[in-house]
Amino acid sequence: MAKYVYNFGTEVTDGDATMRNLLGGKGANLAEMAKIGLPVPAGFTITTEVCTYFYANGQQYPPELKAQVDKAMADIEKTMGKKFGDTKDLPLLVSCRSGARDSMPGMMDTVLNIGLNDKTVEVLAKKSNDERFAWDCYRRFIQMYGRVVLDMKPLTKEDHDPFEDLLEAKKKKAGVKDDSDLKAEHLKELVKEFKDAVKKQTGHDFPEDPMEQVWGGIGAVFGSWMNDRAIVYRRMHGIPHDWGTAVNVQAMVFGNMGDDCATGVAFTRNGATGAKGITGDYLINAQGEDVVAGIRTPDHIEETLAKKMPKCWEEFSKVAMILENHYKDIQDVEFTIERQKLWMLQTRNAKRTGFAHVRSAVDMVNEGLITPEMAIARIPANDLTQLLQPVFGGEGLKGKTSIAKGINAGPGAASGQIYFQPDEAEAVWQKDNNAKIILVRHETTPEDLRGMKVARGILTSTGGAASHAALVSRQMGKACVCGCDSISIDYKAETVTAGGKTYNKGDWISVDGFSGNVYEGQVPTSPSEVLQVLFDKTLKPQDAPMYQCFHQLMSWSDRYRKLGVRANADNPQESEQAIALGAQGIGLTRTEHMFFDHIDDFRAMILADNVKDREKALAPLLEHQRRDFEGIFRAMAGRPVTIRLLDPPLHEFVPHEAKDQEALAKKLGIPAVKVAQRVKELGEFNPMLGHRGCRLGIVYPEITRMQATAICQAAVNVLKDGIDCHPEIMIPLAGNATEFRHQEDAVREAARKVFQEAGVTADYLVGTMIELPRACITADKIAENAEFFSFGTNDLTQTGLGISRDDYGTYINEYQELDIFPADPFQTLDQEGVGELMEIAVKKGTRTRPDIKLGICGEHGGDPASVKFCHKVGLHYVSCSPLRLPVARLAAAQAAIAEKKEKAACKGSSCCSSSCKCCCCCKCGCGCGC
Ligand code: PEP
Ligand code: MG
Repeated sequence: MAKYVYNFGTEVTDGDATMRNLLGGKGANLAEMAKIGLPVPAGFTITTEVCTYFYANGQQYPPELKAQVDKAMADIEKTMGKKFGDTKDLPLLVSCRSGARDSMPGMMDTVLNIGLNDKTVEVLAKKSNDERFAWDCYRRFIQMYGRVVLDMKPLTKEDHDPFEDLLEAKKKKAGVKDDSDLKAEHLKELVKEFKDAVKKQTGHDFPEDPMEQVWGGIGAVFGSWMNDRAIVYRRMHGIPHDWGTAVNVQAMVFGNMGDDCATGVAFTRNGATGAKGITGDYLINAQGEDVVAGIRTPDHIEETLAKKMPKCWEEFSKVAMILENHYKDIQDVEFTIERQKLWMLQTRNAKRTGFAHVRSAVDMVNEGLITPEMAIARIPANDLTQLLQPVFGGEGLKGKTSIAKGINAGPGAASGQIYFQPDEAEAVWQKDNNAKIILVRHETTPEDLRGMKVARGILTSTGGAASHAALVSRQMGKACVCGCDSISIDYKAETVTAGGKTYNKGDWISVDGFSGNVYEGQVPTSPSEVLQVLFDKTLKPQDAPMYQCFHQLMSWSDRYRKLGVRANADNPQESEQAIALGAQGIGLTRTEHMFFDHIDDFRAMILADNVKDREKALAPLLEHQRRDFEGIFRAMAGRPVTIRLLDPPLHEFVPHEAKDQEALAKKLGIPAVKVAQRVKELGEFNPMLGHRGCRLGIVYPEITRMQATAICQAAVNVLKDGIDCHPEIMIPLAGNATEFRHQEDAVREAARKVFQEAGVTADYLVGTMIELPRACITADKIAENAEFFSFGTNDLTQTGLGISRDDYGTYINEYQELDIFPADPFQTLDQEGVGELMEIAVKKGTRTRPDIKLGICGEHGGDPASVKFCHKVGLHYVSCSPLRLPVARLAAAQAAIAEKKEKAACKGSSCCSSSCKCCCCCKCGCGCGC
């Protein structure tokens, strides 16, 4: 017979911590605590399989369940020495709580004090010698049961909560302020009024039968798996909807039976900082939800429990340490003290900040509690970005409410004055380098780069996580909230409206790139300790404890990872920062960013009528580019540097406003109409599929020649100074081997000339970005000439999915709401589609050229799940914006450790079948075809 019910804390405990898939986290840990001898009130867990059954069978239970629940209830009665529904002696009461595989705090429902009715409440009052306590439990029970089981909770903000209305009226009539001031007779009246309200709203009497109450509780908890907030939470945290929740039914113990009782929640280490020592809140003479409900201000456990209940504190501290040592992780526990006896109601691995993650993991390795491998595996790689950014938090956010929310696109938090025009922002900054600017735009384009550079933060109303604003701000390490479609920007009036209020140019706002929230006014930030040591050198490592933990974690990660890490960087300063954060090379230099520093020269080139004039206009650009490349090569000191030739369509570089066109015409000494005409010619319907990438170099080979010459001359100059240098020249957007060969010829010809003239030869490679499905499918042909592939997964996602990264922000939310996309494909690689294309390219490319260098330089190179995928398909390195390097290093180490574990668990060829996808079969060449 299928087993659906698992006991804990009774004579025999059936489950343990390894069974969280079946028992949920709470159930598995209650069983584990009982198994290791900790004081857990007896109870049982109904498995997650019942939840699955419940939803697959029109909200019915498996037929075997009833008998198993009846037996388990009898087991609780036996262990606790009380009877459920007892009308003579102190009755057993139970709670009914949810518990999914991954904790979903507060998302599902709970019912407490089940078993109370008009008779048992009298016995409880008599036997506890506390009439008020008994009737308070009863009124809470009816209120909770009414809301959760009988669906009496208000559905909208405007709806009245019948129970709250009655409670308020009662307090008013009794002339008291707090619930706790109501006397037993008031509570008795309230119970009657609550029951009348139930009858009125549901048409039925409140159930008096304790077992009917239990089943009501069980049904409500299973039902709450599909409530809206639980669904939204699962979506946000990637928890599959088909996991289901378990239900835990457990004997109630009371923290509200007098001043020798208490209830509380605690962390075994600080969840915000990771510092050692118990922290937590508790209340004397209170029940569970009072601690979090804010009705009374709780005491700090670490400060007063030792004084108020010394024996309980001693026992609690011991239990907390037993749990931390047992689980080898920070525990978040719930407990109740009933008449000086400690009961543990829950333990789970604590949710914590990135700071607490790093500090506690490193401390625990140093304490000998865990290994470096365990430390690496447990830290969510994305959380490392918190250590590198100024942050909003704690006191600073008190009293602030968000005025808008967009996509949390660029790391960090920033406050500043609103500016709408990039050139005005730049002018403001030029006058005052300390100016704090938030650039507010519908969207940004490469033309806005100067304004973006001087801004502390960027806010856009359109565009998603791989929009220009997001991508550039991440590379620059700037706070960015994009795709914030609830704001309305009026460039003409120089206003932005958010949260029903209009803000003018110069007003202060704050953007939080971690949460996507926008706030009015200034929110104070604290600077990153790690960057003070590594970038600013304003702190010494020995004075920076957080930096020391970070450094330790990074050294362990570097020891385990197999993937190389590179940075996307466009100038010497970014290159230096990348090295400080562990870059082993540059995976992408977007050369067009340099052109924006010399925009007039570049525009002259675009406006030239013929090759000769274009070459003439390119001459000063050659100088600029050579200098720029030299700076990067010197900063990178021999590490490989991948430089992409010009990629964006030319219209991105020309002015579109008539007044700007006139100014340019004046500068170049040509008629304004000619500029306007050329801008019109360059316009494209579909710029992402337009005249860009290698298509530009093919039509204007002189641009490719100039760029290759600049790269090779820079390499020669650097080599002459005794600095090693390894340029990798990258052709963008090649979909055909013929396109690649055309550009390769131009590059090699320019290189040959430079080296011949200089008498010095640099070691360089010519390779391509793989950004088009055709490039993946014909990778074997492209690899005949290309010495490396770098997956440009931003474009590969655009072209693979047929979605433009510039406007997908308008519908991606709906796609995620409807679970059509599990994640934003521009943030986390679509492994099933784009990933498959990459695998094809890897296989075909290596078949032609076994030693071909393989990397990724799209935004996904800094996304943990995508980094793990890159490890799996056998890339050699990932490249990402400098501030995401620590994330990539950690994620790469996690991938290597997970693979090692998988291999150790894998039975090798004995588990192979033709569909086997296990790690060793994929890589062992066993011929299983996976
Ligand atoms: C890419 O397409 O992944 C890429 C890195 O190029 P860009 O984002 O500059 O188009
Ligand atoms: Mg691209």
